[in-house]
Amino acid sequence: MPGLMINDLPYEILSNILAEAAKLNAVEGVTWTFGLTEPELPHGKIPIHKYVRGPVQNEIIKWDSVTDIRQTCSVWRNWALSHALEQIHLNKWRTSERWAEVTRDRSAYNIYELIDRPSGAYVRQPPYLSLDKTCRLFSDHREIARHVRRIWFNGFYVAETDQRIFDTVNECSNLHSVAIPWTMLRRGNADDWARLLRANDKNPLQSLELLGVEIPQDQKKRSENQVDKRAPRHHRVDFSQLKRLKVFGNTTFMPVCDDDLQAIARTATGLEEIHISCLSTISIKGLIALIQSSRNTLRVIEHAPRSSDGFIHCHPGELEPDSSIHLCELLTSCPNLRDLSLSMPTVCAELFSNHRVKWSGELQVRALSLCTLQHKRNVNRRDQVNSLSKLLSAARDLSRGTAYRHCASDYQQSLSIEFFMSHSIFTPLSGTVHGDFSLARISSNNLFPREQHFSFKGPYGSSGVYGKQLTDEEIELWEVVGEQEYLVAMDSGWVSMDI
Ligand SMILES: [Zn+2]
Repeated sequence: MPGLMINDLPYEILSNILAEAAKLNAVEGVTWTFGLTEPELPHGKIPIHKYVRGPVQNEIIKWDSVTDIRQTCSVWRNWALSHALEQIHLNKWRTSERWAEVTRDRSAYNIYELIDRPSGAYVRQPPYLSLDKTCRLFSDHREIARHVRRIWFNGFYVAETDQRIFDTVNECSNLHSVAIPWTMLRRGNADDWARLLRANDKNPLQSLELLGVEIPQDQKKRSENQVDKRAPRHHRVDFSQLKRLKVFGNTTFMPVCDDDLQAIARTATGLEEIHISCLSTISIKGLIALIQSSRNTLRVIEHAPRSSDGFIHCHPGELEPDSSIHLCELLTSCPNLRDLSLSMPTVCAELFSNHRVKWSGELQVRALSLCTLQHKRNVNRRDQVNSLSKLLSAARDLSRGTAYRHCASDYQQSLSIEFFMSHSIFTPLSGTVHGDFSLARISSNNLFPREQHFSFKGPYGSSGVYGKQLTDEEIELWEVVGEQEYLVAMDSGWVSMDI
């Protein structure tokens, strides 16, 4: 076929041309579909709107955009499959119903729109249809499944879908990233997990995300959902090839906890990224186990045990009083660490003592107290002031040192450090403290703060109000003072560390 001499072009150029064609096809393709406005109720005679227009999923648009390309020749077909299937999101069908008369041929939607009074009936659609069909397609056509690189499973939290998720993933031989319900860590057995991780394969799984949500009571009560096979503790389950672990979202049903992370840490020796956020069931103990096992490879640590219903950070947990681990030292000993956002029980100047660290960008530390004051019975005020002052100076010195290196080389980013302690935000580089000082103003007889400067930061963190519309009173609550003035106020007892 003479037209296919285009295939003699270097693959990158051919790929760019086809991607451009797919983009144009997507603009001209169908971007909307039909759904039902409300389900039929058993007793009421509610007039039901038959259909409503809604957007088509991006993945479907992408699939449609390469339909013609896919049918041209084998090279183009392979390119089209990789383009359309590289990332897949599988969602539980939400309404369990669809309008029978709507054609499944999206290109005929325009004709359907011309019908003034569409007739038809509701039909029940199995909620797990997308998962079933994908699982069947991949097992029947492994050459299609090998194009999938990343896959997300959303809404499949019951035991009956577990095996289909494992089967689907296992067919994707080039998969490097998967996001699955946390319940699979409980109900999957050692074989399921060994196959999912593929530690001895030439294409092992590189990124694992465990997503938690609160599930309905009736699902919690079902005995088949309550199974825990403790797979991460099994000797055949090997996390050593995993580079990225993310645990996200709060749940009260068999949540991921410190024990799980400690079990994973036995073999997870090559993690480059750890993200633990928006949940309250993992404390600093689980995180430390992972940091210790992947100390040499870690580049990113994000530990923000935030509750899902707001921006309140939960207690980060505590180490045993007899523990010999000093988290500040442990973090400075990670040779490749670059990005850090962490909730720690305590923090001290030791965290910034190593000027050879490669930390860059925004570093946020949320802490309850200072290491030097931990487990002391009678903490005197002068000790508090000295410890805090040393910590802020050390952070400032490290930031300045990094800024100097930033001038010296283009690739090094400067480091900006923020502490969240005692309901205040400390920004050492600018020498300022942001907080609500209204009580301190009363106890100091208006001596502190000396002048009133409203803060642009706020009770919801360093980004201020996170888009929340605050009243004038709430805005005026947060003020900014100089670090030295704050330390003097602390020495005078007008402000204090909460220990
Ligand atoms: Zn410390």
